[in-house]
Amino acid sequence: MSDVKVKRNELESLKWMGKAIDEYFAEVRRAPEEGKKVCWHIAVPGTLMTTSQGILTIMHAHVAAYIGARHLMKEVFEVSEDEGFLSNTCCYMRTFVGLAMAKVNGVKLPPQIDFPLPDLINCMGECQEQFTMAELLSHKTGAPAIIIDPNPSGCVTKEDFDERVKYLEKQLKEVAIPMIEKVSGHRYDYAALSEAMAVMKKCAILRNKCVALQAHRPAPMTLFDLGVGLAPFIVLQGKPGTVEFYERFLAELEDRVAKGIGAVPDEKYRLYWDNYTMWRLLGVVGRELINHHANIVIGRYPLAFYPDVELIDPENPLHSLAECNVSMLKTLYPHWASEMVNDYVEKFDLDGLLMPASPTCRMFDIGQHDIVDACERKHGVPGLIFEGDMVDIAFFNEAQFKTRFEAFLETIDARKKWRRG
Ligand code: SF4
Repeated sequence: MSDVKVKRNELESLKWMGKAIDEYFAEVRRAPEEGKKVCWHIAVPGTLMTTSQGILTIMHAHVAAYIGARHLMKEVFEVSEDEGFLSNTCCYMRTFVGLAMAKVNGVKLPPQIDFPLPDLINCMGECQEQFTMAELLSHKTGAPAIIIDPNPSGCVTKEDFDERVKYLEKQLKEVAIPMIEKVSGHRYDYAALSEAMAVMKKCAILRNKCVALQAHRPAPMTLFDLGVGLAPFIVLQGKPGTVEFYERFLAELEDRVAKGIGAVPDEKYRLYWDNYTMWRLLGVVGRELINHHANIVIGRYPLAFYPDVELIDPENPLHSLAECNVSMLKTLYPHWASEMVNDYVEKFDLDGLLMPASPTCRMFDIGQHDIVDACERKHGVPGLIFEGDMVDIAFFNEAQFKTRFEAFLETIDARKKWRRG
């Protein structure tokens, strides 16, 4: 294991987020004794549909990230393996099903991940695994499931986009709302949904300003800092304190820019990160990066959460949610990602692309070779595709990564001379 020779500059403002998540999860764990309902949300981020109605909601990817970052996967995966899951099944599915089946079978898990079983499952599936997960969880726990098809196939024209928005909005109205009313026991409160959306919109505007600051040299944060700050777009959507968090976050980044302080001391390499955040690898990969003064400046995944602020319309919340979700699905299309990467190389002055490919989720892996090829041809910027996983460390070979990463930096050095003359 590499030693840390260089220390990353931590952001003070991010500490609030860790506490806010811990408090929220504690509230979820207390839900049965406090007579509150719990929803397990799968897929595209729209937890405010239920949280705004007083239903405490956890999201599959977020819970997996929480567990992965705390190195608690082993126990959960063991339960899912006992249920017959193969080790290369989607790690988010193994997490949610493992958590549920531990509860159903009375297996003791660490207290911080001992979540109550769902009263409701909400699935807006963007891949087949998510539909399977929702049906399986419903079958095993007896909770009703909202199953919605956001139709994540490519939108080429404006007509395609509008058709999909109409299709999704209709399902939200006719499938999701009646089920949420049934579980919550009251009429759907649209004003509460609008209010939550208005708060989230303010966060999204501030978040985009934070991202824009990454164009500075040195970049004031890492992409992983931005990932930690995502909760206001996941389970803390519309929650009190989230706008104030983003105000403090932005102010801290602006201060760093003014003083020329980077997240990584003596920043030498500015990199792009494709795919999901690999929460379980943050320590290992992070150490390797920082020791070489390399920073992940920007990436695909954290910007998949409500990037188009003009689409967030609290006055028309269901239509707006449908529009935002159809728009967010574009991040899955390789042709869109390729254009975005080429744009980022110029905007954020990038030196290379880090492209983790997960054997348990092939969705983001599609087209990675083409994305790297297109970027090499256009900008002479190289890419490194390597195997890793969001939470399952078994798919990562540290020694191999280290060797390949060092060779990759040598290629960058050679290309930099050539690119900058
Ligand atoms: S297969 Fe990939 S996109 Fe689908 S649920 Fe799993 S991690 Fe998410």
